[in-house]
Amino acid sequence: MTQEELIKRINELKRAKNAIILAHNYELGEIQDIADFCGDSLELSIKAANTDNDLIVFCGVRFMAETAKMLSPDKKVILPVAHATCEMAEMIDGEQLRAIKKEYPNSITVAYVNSTAETKAECDLCVTSSNALKIIASLPKDKHVIFVPDRNLGSYCKEQTNHSNMYLYDGFCPVHDRLTVEVLKKRKAEFPNAEVLIHPESRKELVELADHALSTGKILTYVRESDKKEFIIVTEIGILHRLEKENPDKKFIPISCEAVCPHMKLIRLENVLEALEKEENEIILDKEIMEKAAKPIRAMLDLSK
Ligand code: SF4
Repeated sequence: MTQEELIKRINELKRAKNAIILAHNYELGEIQDIADFCGDSLELSIKAANTDNDLIVFCGVRFMAETAKMLSPDKKVILPVAHATCEMAEMIDGEQLRAIKKEYPNSITVAYVNSTAETKAECDLCVTSSNALKIIASLPKDKHVIFVPDRNLGSYCKEQTNHSNMYLYDGFCPVHDRLTVEVLKKRKAEFPNAEVLIHPESRKELVELADHALSTGKILTYVRESDKKEFIIVTEIGILHRLEKENPDKKFIPISCEAVCPHMKLIRLENVLEALEKEENEIILDKEIMEKAAKPIRAMLDLSK
């Protein structure tokens, strides 16, 4: 089948099955182009909560599709490639978190949305990179906070909000965490007029060298509204597809061609078509875990309004 034929068939099936295709900003360009909606974790969570489609084909990694399922328990949610997972989310499980909670009783437990359903089920609140600062800042300063799993986003929030009373789990996103100060300094020297936009999953030393720390959704908005013409983008390179498409008059320099999340590149058009045809790889969650895990997500959505 040619690419055009694949896209035509996907669109026909989508209409016939009242399906919606959601894609994260890090997905391959061909997937972003056929999606009904592209966005960051918060935008996709909101979309998933509000959709009235019967079938959600989620092009992202497992925790995102799980989040969509928690917010739309009566809908069928499909992850086109079952083994598309997030390495950071897998760094902690429910049992490990329960042990930490025992060590710090009476804490508010906050999970970055990049976490499994089992981890979320142990939490009071979820945050995304887009709303983490606002939500952590709203928590009482005298209350101890357990933040999992991302030590980089956690330490960024701790510092920016002066919430010193925080335990940070030692998880990280391998894609962002391996970026070095040397590489960023080299990029800045090569493009001295470029503004540096960084994702807060990056290390503190890099965030300090950047002009703005933003979620992928906020990077897109910032660039759209900026008069500047050149940007060094310090996050996964998938976002460049949309940045370039939406801002043809602006130049985007990736921090490194190695800033690639292999799990975000697994889904191809063939997988989306297969998902619509066969409806396999459905997200099925334990009912109790799903109900418990939906609570911190809903609490986050209420605080984000
Ligand atoms: S880029 Fe990092 S945080 Fe995002 S899915 Fe990949 S491993 Fe997880």
